[in-house]
Amino acid sequence: MKIAIAGAGAMGSRIGLMLHRAGNEVILIDRWAAHIQMIRDHGLRANYNGEDIVEHMQIYSPEEIDAKHESVDLIVALTKSMGLREMFEEIKPIITENTYVLSLMNGLGHAEDLAEFVDRDHIILGVTMWTAAMEGPGKVKLFGTGNIELQNLAPAGATFTKDVVQIFDDAGLNATYSQNVKYSIWRKACVNGTLNGLCTILDTNITGVGTTSTAAEMVQTIINEFALVAAKEGIELDQTEVYEHITATYDPAGIGLHYPSMYQDLIKNQRLTEIDYINGAVAAKGKKYGISTPYCTFLTQLVHAKEEILGAK
Ligand code: NAD
Repeated sequence: MKIAIAGAGAMGSRIGLMLHRAGNEVILIDRWAAHIQMIRDHGLRANYNGEDIVEHMQIYSPEEIDAKHESVDLIVALTKSMGLREMFEEIKPIITENTYVLSLMNGLGHAEDLAEFVDRDHIILGVTMWTAAMEGPGKVKLFGTGNIELQNLAPAGATFTKDVVQIFDDAGLNATYSQNVKYSIWRKACVNGTLNGLCTILDTNITGVGTTSTAAEMVQTIINEFALVAAKEGIELDQTEVYEHITATYDPAGIGLHYPSMYQDLIKNQRLTEIDYINGAVAAKGKKYGISTPYCTFLTQLVHAKEEILGAK
């Protein structure tokens, strides 16, 4: 199977590297010029669970993708959510009617964006608990373990999706075929929809948010807004389970001292956030369904205001 990774930042590099190491034909596509140059000159370097490794892989900028390139069987979408459409516009030359697209991005609404480029039968939805971090252009830090759940958006995609599960699993990515990936996507978005925005706006880590006297009401209200909107899309979020899961993360002996990715993107690196695909998506869907989502709406506005104040790009 010929695979393209569209968006080869931290997570795209992880998935691309692990698939390539397992012997698959993989190309990376990314628009970060310094990153491309480093990978071309030195290979993709990774601190892989403490061991320094190098994987020599092909990488192209989206502008370099043209009709000369062979089409691919599978594109794994791992841009940031707001960069997805622009990326797919540029890589159209490698998309044919046989190409499948898998989204492993966080957030909601990616199937709608991808349906502009491929048939719904060719969309695979995924959710992953793997993590990855950039150490600099051409270098990633890949620690810990994770898993991936995949499911086709429309019934006709099941056979191909099961092949993809096998390939990912063979590459050590702990992939399984999900019976309800939409639930997992909503659940993860809901977790991100509480901790990411609150840590970013309150300028603190997870324990910092969790130990405030207002955390319980803020977190429960946001979960409730997600649940009310999810229900309109046929997903019955288990609010108690999600709340207990979130409160368990407050423990400083666990991941409590961690600053979520949105905090690192915006506060540390002045980069734009995925808030429109998390709380912003719930606010937009809520409007469509006539459900009031004041906390998600306000948190989205606060994060956008912070992006402007910090001149995020
Ligand atoms: P990322 O920021 O590492 O990469 C996204 C894009 O930004 C890439 O095109 C990358 O080249 C570019 N980029 C990264 N650092 C840059 C810099 N300093 N200067 C210029 N460009 C830079 O994002 P990611 O963490 O790989 O996330 C991709 C998707 O995967 C998102 O939807 C994210 O929510 C999701 N995700 C990430 C993780 C994780 O641990 N990183 C885990 C699960 C899901």
